[in-house]
Amino acid sequence: MENLMTTQHTPTPTTADAWRGLPAAQQPQWPDPELLREVTDGLAHAPALVFAEECDRLRERMAAVARGEAFLLQGGDCAETFAGVTADAINGKLRTLLQMAVVLTHGAAVPVVKVGRIAGQYAKPRSRPTETQGGVTLPVYRGDAVNGLAFTPVDRRPDPRRLRRMYEASAATLNLVRAFATGGYADLHQAHAWNRGFVSHSPAGRRYEELAAEIDRSLRFMAACGVDPQELRAVEFFAGHEGLLLDYEAALTRTDSRTGLRYAGSGHLLWIGERTRDLDGAHVEYFSRIRNPIAVKLGPDATADQALAYTEKLNPTAEPGRLTFVVRMGADAVRDRLPTLVAKVTAQAAPVAWVCDPMHGNTFEAPSGHKTRRFEDILGEVEGFFAVHRDLGTHAGGIHVELTGDDVTECIGGGEEVQVADLHRRYETACDPRLNHNQSLELAFLVAQMLRT
Ligand code: PEP
Ligand code: MN
Repeated sequence: MENLMTTQHTPTPTTADAWRGLPAAQQPQWPDPELLREVTDGLAHAPALVFAEECDRLRERMAAVARGEAFLLQGGDCAETFAGVTADAINGKLRTLLQMAVVLTHGAAVPVVKVGRIAGQYAKPRSRPTETQGGVTLPVYRGDAVNGLAFTPVDRRPDPRRLRRMYEASAATLNLVRAFATGGYADLHQAHAWNRGFVSHSPAGRRYEELAAEIDRSLRFMAACGVDPQELRAVEFFAGHEGLLLDYEAALTRTDSRTGLRYAGSGHLLWIGERTRDLDGAHVEYFSRIRNPIAVKLGPDATADQALAYTEKLNPTAEPGRLTFVVRMGADAVRDRLPTLVAKVTAQAAPVAWVCDPMHGNTFEAPSGHKTRRFEDILGEVEGFFAVHRDLGTHAGGIHVELTGDDVTECIGGGEEVQVADLHRRYETACDPRLNHNQSLELAFLVAQMLRT
């Protein structure tokens, strides 16, 4: 995708920057606008991180998801951090996702489209602009792309130079992702090795070992028959993040000179979050003018009319795979609120893919003060999501989860029964609580079961 890489950001004065005239929620108050301009000018001349052809390919994959012919697995940190850009941490997340994908593919015999919340997930929308501790009030942490997590005036001051670091961290991560996906390690013959270093005596870990042994036998059988498909030697893996910081996204937007069309160059799939999906706001406007596959998060208050309006604004030409709705209503609400949306969109709008985010509607604060989620609620929301689609005859297209390859204690429950009292042991997230490696695998086994039936 030579074109996208080499074509520099040439702002078309007419429509491409129309978002700038609209209210943009959740943007930092950059104290130094001059410095911001300097940084974004630099980014506008930097190589894009992804290619237009790759985005087009993911759009085709998402079209298959919308048709019910593939399943989306999207996962990664709530908030990536610059300190988290290490080979071990990234490998752990990728291996976890690969293992989940194998469990889903094997269990349900359906192709799994793999997308990380990775290589760009550095900015967070927050419910309050400030945070007060011990009588001191500072700007809230908005992700490493904006400010630092430590509660000091220096760390919490938004610094646009962090946008450059976000680009560099994303590039380094994506480099590893690409090497990992195609350099031999993601070869299905390595299915056993993906589990190495993880706690494998958990119920899900043991089950995975059995599955890997079964895959080994199948591969040996195929080899004995003289079959060795190249498709098993590498995986297709895409990068996605919330397109929150519009100054950053706009600076990395590129015109594909093959077609003259504009693509976000920061990641393959971008989504609009629950807090920035105002139909008349800057985010929806910016997203309407990029050609990547995109998603919109829909919380419990989303209405069917809003959903219809998104399909009109964001996918006016009814392009297959262009638009995905990521539903995050909560385990209690999903069965009541989702059916109307799915029914109306199915009857009246261009096809979309429906994906379940069972994390963000199920967060609560434990007595210890830790933000957490119950594994059973996460599972409950996925079950509700599947049930709604089963009743309507539509497709449960995938899951979108927050996870890590590490053995953290951030979500409670699961086969190893993380308790509220365990939360403090390894609570490492910079934002929302993530499934640990075992909980992630366990969820994959349970979702595979739902896909089968
Ligand atoms: C997130 O994905 O981390 C997030 C903030 O989600 P939502 O926009 O659904 O609240
Ligand atoms: Mn989150």
